[in-house]
Amino acid sequence: MGKKKVASSGKCTLCGSVLDKAAMTKHLAACREKNDAMASGVRPGPATAFHVLVEGRYQPEYWMHLEVPSRASLEVLDGFLRDVWLECCGHLSAFRIEGITYSAEPMDDFEDEMMNIALSEVLRPGLKFHHEYDFGSTTHLVGKVIAERETRLKGKGIRLLARNEPPVIPCGKCGQPAEQVCAGCAYEASGWLCKACARQHACGADMFLPVVNSPRVGVCGYTG
Ligand SMILES: [Zn+2]
Ligand SMILES: [Zn+2]
Ligand SMILES: [Zn+2]
Ligand SMILES: [Zn+2]
Repeated sequence: MGKKKVASSGKCTLCGSVLDKAAMTKHLAACREKNDAMASGVRPGPATAFHVLVEGRYQPEYWMHLEVPSRASLEVLDGFLRDVWLECCGHLSAFRIEGITYSAEPMDDFEDEMMNIALSEVLRPGLKFHHEYDFGSTTHLVGKVIAERETRLKGKGIRLLARNEPPVIPCGKCGQPAEQVCAGCAYEASGWLCKACARQHACGADMFLPVVNSPRVGVCGYTG
């Protein structure tokens, strides 16, 4: 996908502030505390949650801060990543954490583990992990565990704390914002096109996918 500019601002879902990617981690520590204090009658704890930053391994302009209950499973996190960022046609996926592969359908030949393991068993603050969706046209994500704190989250639901604003990708022909991407040419700047220029693209209309806010944009049949 080469030449697009890294636009790395994002929005805090708790207060609506738009901030630089680099400033968001610090902002969230304070904003989340304030937000929790204002939530009427709900005291944090005794459950804990991980604060995790997930981003495209090769497209760090796509990122999300998540609050994930420590007792939720990797499967729940996988499901959330699929819902928001990845799912096109039910491909396999896996986490790689400290040399161990966790997948929904572990293969006997490899020493893979099941994904239905609690996060508290495999994550801790400071740890980095990887996630791969689709072993053909793979979307690679990297996660970083920022902290583990008490949470007012009930159950195993994941809370989205912040997310990048959609990066503006220029049309490879005229420089206007691209709205469509040719699945066959997504790896070249000329595959990213505005509506008008897309009509003249040689590969044809059925090759086009919408430009969406996800590290899987332009891959397989991903439409957001
Ligand atoms: Zn905020
Ligand atoms: Zn697919
Ligand atoms: Zn154009
Ligand atoms: Zn094309």
